[in-house]
Amino acid sequence: MSVILVLCLVGQSSAAEVSHDRTDLVFGRGVEEFAMAATTDPVRVIPEPIRGLMARLGDPSWRRRDTATRELQAAVASDSRWLFWGRHDPDPEVRLRCNALLRRLHPCRGCRGTGQSRNWDAWPCWDCDGTATAWPYSMWD
Ligand SMILES: [Zn+2]
Repeated sequence: MSVILVLCLVGQSSAAEVSHDRTDLVFGRGVEEFAMAATTDPVRVIPEPIRGLMARLGDPSWRRRDTATRELQAAVASDSRWLFWGRHDPDPEVRLRCNALLRRLHPCRGCRGTGQSRNWDAWPCWDCDGTATAWPYSMWD
């Protein structure tokens, strides 16, 4: 019985591959929220074209919102820190789309974004609890 348990544990986790993505993201969020608190007008700090794209995330037309989401994803693919600023937008649609982009841009490396364990898909990934993303879901998003 213990051999099976050990094999399952060894197959589930490999210390070299388990990333610290979630920790990095939470730290990055803390840094950006600290910088945000130090500014008097956070919206002006966000550079163009990211600021304009974020404003379009709350457009009444869903086509424009989706287009802006795709363009914003391309714009922040290498540096997603501005999405943390968008998480504090007064428009809930902007907040929702910024969180969705954070999840899409940071898939869980433990399961390679599948949400399934590497052990015959017997249970959800332990790193991300089956969410397939390094950015955790929260009821406060
Ligand atoms: Zn995972």
